[in-house]
Amino acid sequence: MEFVDLQSQRQRLGKRLDDALASVLAHGRFINGPEVGLLEKRLAEFCGARHAVACASGTDALLLGMMALGVGRGDAVLVPSFSFVAPAEVVRLLGATPVFLDADPATFNLDPESIAPGVTAAKRAGLRPVGLIAVDLFGRPADYPAIESQVECLGLWLVADAAQSFGARSRAGRVGNFGVLATTSFYPSKPLGCYGDGGAIFTGDDALARELRSLLSHGCGAHAYDHVRVGINGRLDTIQAAILLGKLDLFAEEIVLRDRAAGRYRDLLSDVDGIAVPVMPEDVASTWAQYTMRLLRGERESFREKLRQEGVPSAVHYPVPLHRQPAFRDDPIAVDGLPAAERLSEIVISLPMHPYLTIAEQERVAAAVRGSLATR
Ligand SMILES: *Cc1c(COP(=O)(O)O)cnc(C)c1O
Repeated sequence: MEFVDLQSQRQRLGKRLDDALASVLAHGRFINGPEVGLLEKRLAEFCGARHAVACASGTDALLLGMMALGVGRGDAVLVPSFSFVAPAEVVRLLGATPVFLDADPATFNLDPESIAPGVTAAKRAGLRPVGLIAVDLFGRPADYPAIESQVECLGLWLVADAAQSFGARSRAGRVGNFGVLATTSFYPSKPLGCYGDGGAIFTGDDALARELRSLLSHGCGAHAYDHVRVGINGRLDTIQAAILLGKLDLFAEEIVLRDRAAGRYRDLLSDVDGIAVPVMPEDVASTWAQYTMRLLRGERESFREKLRQEGVPSAVHYPVPLHRQPAFRDDPIAVDGLPAAERLSEIVISLPMHPYLTIAEQERVAAAVRGSLATR
């Protein structure tokens, strides 16, 4: 059993991907080839955003976004602590300071209640709070209505890190349309992944889209050797765009398959004592980038070892909250100890999740989970 099975999808796509690659090899425009522009159009259509700007990775998407928003020394940007490192990392790369927010223990996403204390903590540290990067952890959109009302009255901009949630929805709308800009990642194991690194930025703002395109191509102006700002090399390879175009044809169906797999896990596991499986409200459609549950008692590593003995792979997203990481432990935090982020990092465990999980595999996972809880 695979934790993320990319081969089943590869077999389904077979010749379609072979042909897409052969076509790029034949036309030879490996940078800025026609597939890149076509992909941008299809991505924008898929999520209903005005602009999609393809770039080299989800991390570059965030870095470019922060550069376009002018983030720099003396600025503070609020980010969740229970999350992947990229948002905090790009803030620090630009000389600004991340301020870590606590998590909502039920949704794993940032707790909107910790935004105002985060602003206070930033000011106390002598920093200028400028914005917030929300993360849609494991594919579930953050609580945007609550976040938007907070950032509005605090005078912050909002960026949505949708690296795990492209294709998701909530009652507030479709992912890709929250904040001044939204970013995503096409890392191979993300719900929509390429065969290498890739990412995209979504925005409704024409001027911002133009600036992002310039920034990702060395700050170019009227032509390639006219540099009107300092940029980076942040382009998406044509070959990756061609792969993504092929995969995008299956993506809507794969989101449904992921949701079906999540529903089966819920049916198999929700009555099991000692764990809490994720509960998704009716009006939220997650992309289930991870199926992450909480282990309510007992020791996680021995639990995982028992799963391993039954042939069931698992993973921990994320074992150390960012405010505890050596690279970030001197940065401000919103509330003392960030107790929910700390607790979650100790008790979360992710089960195999991908569109091609079979019922038999999920029954094996559920049996292993029950067995591992019973024998300790
Ligand atoms: C994967 C991920 C990123 C970074 O994407 P890359 O394409 O790997 O650079 C950023 N944020 C979150 C929440 C992620 O899960």
